[in-house]
Amino acid sequence: MLHLPLSSTVAARVIERLVRRRIRNAVSRRTGHSRENELHAVAEKFFSKFQAVVRTAFARGHFAVDHVALRQATTKGEAHEAMAPAAFATQRYLQRELPKLLLSLMEAGGNAGLKRLGSVRGLRAAADTDIYSMKFDVTNPDVIEWIKEHTAELVKGITETTRQDITDAIAAAFESGTLREAYDDILESVGDDTRAELITRTECMMAVNEGQRESWAQAEEAGLLTGDEKRVWIATDDACSECEELDGVQVDLDEEYPLDGGDGPPKHPRCRCTENIVAGQSSEEE
Ligand SMILES: [Zn+2]
Repeated sequence: MLHLPLSSTVAARVIERLVRRRIRNAVSRRTGHSRENELHAVAEKFFSKFQAVVRTAFARGHFAVDHVALRQATTKGEAHEAMAPAAFATQRYLQRELPKLLLSLMEAGGNAGLKRLGSVRGLRAAADTDIYSMKFDVTNPDVIEWIKEHTAELVKGITETTRQDITDAIAAAFESGTLREAYDDILESVGDDTRAELITRTECMMAVNEGQRESWAQAEEAGLLTGDEKRVWIATDDACSECEELDGVQVDLDEEYPLDGGDGPPKHPRCRCTENIVAGQSSEEE
């Protein structure tokens, strides 16, 4: 007979995972949500286009580098000034291209969010035919504001990462005494495909989630929700332990999540969490 050397700790871990999954599936049944849903499909649909924009932004940055000036600066242990035109070229391209992309993602996420309302049991909207004709309003001031702020925030974040990478490359070069070789690392700080992929994965999920939240705010404003509804955090099966903690947690529509969940997913780079909306106490009693 085959003997399986399964230690008790391993067994305990396996059992814990199984129990967790059972609880999660039970929650899924109760709140009627699917872990992989329309938002993931939407994010995937826009992935290539978004990634192409970020890659092009980095390419513009690389193209703007004055290699002679950078080489001279690097040998003196300086690079920030010489790299400024590269950072500027990347920023300018992103500022021009990101808003319309983010708006398309928000709109698609928003319409997916509105579609959900019709299928969630107990929501007042389910009984209201208006919900099926409602479309996400891309001209809503809150939408415009979010896109403006988020574009600025994202561009700032990308620029700061680049600056930090340059600082790190110089510091590492000083430590190893090979200042001349820091040149390649500094050039790389403009951005590469790995970084473009990470940004794209994160940002696509960010915009569709934001669009969905905004769609529920629009539905509430249109009188299609009671305002007592709750948002529920949905972690995917591959979620990290922090997101798994948040799985199934419910908050009011305008309430922040506990456990550093903030306004809602995504919680961290590459996070694939989403949300669902469920009927509140008062509409369940109706
Ligand atoms: Zn997550």
